[in-house]
Amino acid sequence: MKLISIVVPCYNEEKSIDLFYLTVQPVLEGIEYIDYEIIYVNDGSKDSTEQQMRDLSERQEKVRYISFSRNFGKEAAMLAGIEAARGDAVVLMDVDLQDPPELLPQMIEDWEMGGYDVVYTRRSTRSGEPPIRSWFAKQFYKLINNMSDVHIVDGARDYRLMDRKAVNSFLRLRERNRFAKGLFMWVGYKSKCIEFENVERAVGNSSWSFWKLFHYAIDGIVSFTISPLRWATYFGLFTAVSAFLYMFFVILTKLIFGNSVSGYASIVSIMLFFGGIQLIFLGIIGEYIGRIFIEVKSRPNYIIKEESPQLNTNKEKVRKAIIQR
Ligand code: UDP
Ligand code: MG
Repeated sequence: MKLISIVVPCYNEEKSIDLFYLTVQPVLEGIEYIDYEIIYVNDGSKDSTEQQMRDLSERQEKVRYISFSRNFGKEAAMLAGIEAARGDAVVLMDVDLQDPPELLPQMIEDWEMGGYDVVYTRRSTRSGEPPIRSWFAKQFYKLINNMSDVHIVDGARDYRLMDRKAVNSFLRLRERNRFAKGLFMWVGYKSKCIEFENVERAVGNSSWSFWKLFHYAIDGIVSFTISPLRWATYFGLFTAVSAFLYMFFVILTKLIFGNSVSGYASIVSIMLFFGGIQLIFLGIIGEYIGRIFIEVKSRPNYIIKEESPQLNTNKEKVRKAIIQR
């Protein structure tokens, strides 16, 4: 029987832990031809999430948990869960039930019978989300797809099933700056997309503020493409050529009409304009240098404070498998 690992990152979700289990467990039990494990990852929650996980895993043998020493972000939580997973396939799910468990049988069937290595999901609507946020999200996907060579589907969720092959490939990407949505796509493999209507959170609030999402977008762009750096080059070339042509114009007018000291306004505005542009491009270069700095330090992506005992052995196995490749 094949084993499915369900990886669930949680941050301040005390109310959702049991609810998630009660909702997902019957669905998984209903699929007779698979076995499953549920791995909760506590991403440094400040409420009683950790206690909830501990209690649940003591009561239910198929539930395990990992607890971080502090909040490392959802990407790190997903990574820790995937590393700990020992299934033949791994499914990532949000604990807030925004990823409908009803899709699981279909996803697992596509993987087992359909021969797909990756089954991912996308929201066909963004109902229940502030319109400005949806608009920005759309623009972000347009931008990143134009600039980089991985194609990230608009509205793609992290909710996905990955075969062991895809999981191992994903784990070989050891970068610190993890933009998982892009990394999953980058890995490739035979994939299928399932669409569903947006579901609102069961309980609690989204922990993503607008600025957090904005930074996430910049992270995505900077870690997947260097084209902003190329823009700087092109823009520099363009202005240098224009300046050269303008120089001829200035010299000619001087020779023909003599010197007239006017044009204070134009000089000031050109100076300010180019000052601004230079700062923007310096900022862009800074974004990349900052990331090099972070990569070079190569700190771990997360620190585990506590985990259910069953998890330890497997981690070593996964690590060895990665090193062998
Ligand atoms: N999450 C996490 N660490 C964080 C923020 C969020 O593990 O720093 C988890 C959260 O508990 C949930 C999932 O990531 O299971 C998605 O978060 P949320 O529902 O807040 O995001 P949204 O659905 O609004 O995109
Ligand atoms: Mg959510």
